[in-house]
Amino acid sequence: MYFVYDDFFLKHENGPSHPENPDRLVYIMDALGKWQYSDSIDMVSPEEANEKQLAMVHTEEYINAVRKLSSGGGLSFLDMDTGVNKYTYKSAILGAGGCFKGLDLIFRPNPRFNKFFLAARPPGHHAFPSRGSGFCIFNTISLGAKYAQKKYGIEKIAIIDFDAHHGNGTQDVFYDDGSVFYISFHQYPHYPGSGNFNEMGDGSGKGYNLNFPFIPGTKEPDYIAAIIDIVVPVVERFAPELILVSAGYDSHFSDHMSSLGLNAVSYRKIMIAISSLAQYLCKGRIGIILEGGYEYLSTSESVLETLYGCMDISGLGDIKDRQGLEDYLTEDGCNLREKARNWQILKKIKDLFGVEG
Ligand SMILES: [Zn+2]
Repeated sequence: MYFVYDDFFLKHENGPSHPENPDRLVYIMDALGKWQYSDSIDMVSPEEANEKQLAMVHTEEYINAVRKLSSGGGLSFLDMDTGVNKYTYKSAILGAGGCFKGLDLIFRPNPRFNKFFLAARPPGHHAFPSRGSGFCIFNTISLGAKYAQKKYGIEKIAIIDFDAHHGNGTQDVFYDDGSVFYISFHQYPHYPGSGNFNEMGDGSGKGYNLNFPFIPGTKEPDYIAAIIDIVVPVVERFAPELILVSAGYDSHFSDHMSSLGLNAVSYRKIMIAISSLAQYLCKGRIGIILEGGYEYLSTSESVLETLYGCMDISGLGDIKDRQGLEDYLTEDGCNLREKARNWQILKKIKDLFGVEG
């Protein structure tokens, strides 16, 4: 696993007592430093993305506006809670460039690893082509998808987003684009308001946007059931050449930004399933981009479990053996379908996306 990080990401600030602050990364890096599997990590420094690269997703006016606002010094705001300080522009382009760096590494011939994790701030999945919102400045994961398509001739990419909030920016970027399949698990209704299951894409993107709008209180069984029964068959049918993950840890039960109930090991299980899909479909290639996660300790533990999940698929057989995957991810006697709280919603999604069973 390549791990992309730079101390510069600590310099972007949203103002005092803001939940999206440098301590998020301080805790992650501290936990990583003490991790027993740190030998299986290659630390990598990012390089800045240039304006031409940002323009793959964002308008020139917006890029210029952020740069100008940031160069002014002091603290300005793009919306009520999305701050821009002197270091924001550089931090955001280092984040985007860090995603490109991770992709360059995993697309090299004979790479040491086929996965990378990008621990950057600010996050990105609420950033639209012409405006930032929800703590996000540039849409790092969308930029990464465009970069992989352009530089490596990749045709199809799946983006899986397990942040507690709907990645409205990412959905918007690819809503009418059938080459990028956006899949999001999130609390609903909740900020930012979008993300119902009937938002399925438009034009040639119709059928390539899949939202799991989970009720407050949703825990691990719904995620595992949704992944096994819906995400695995749908992504298998789509056959992406790369999987990108918007990794937000505000879906952890201890995080005050949502009422979802995952625990640290849940992220390991989710990544085991995604990794086995990637192994089967796209030479194991996965890029993971940090989004939310505002409870420092649970976020740092969950990041380690995410990394561990990417390494822990040796005991798994064929991804087509869904029962095998289910047995691997659940305790004996756990009936996922009885425990799932969103079963009606999952059934509707199955119908909409033509998934049998
Ligand atoms: Zn979030």
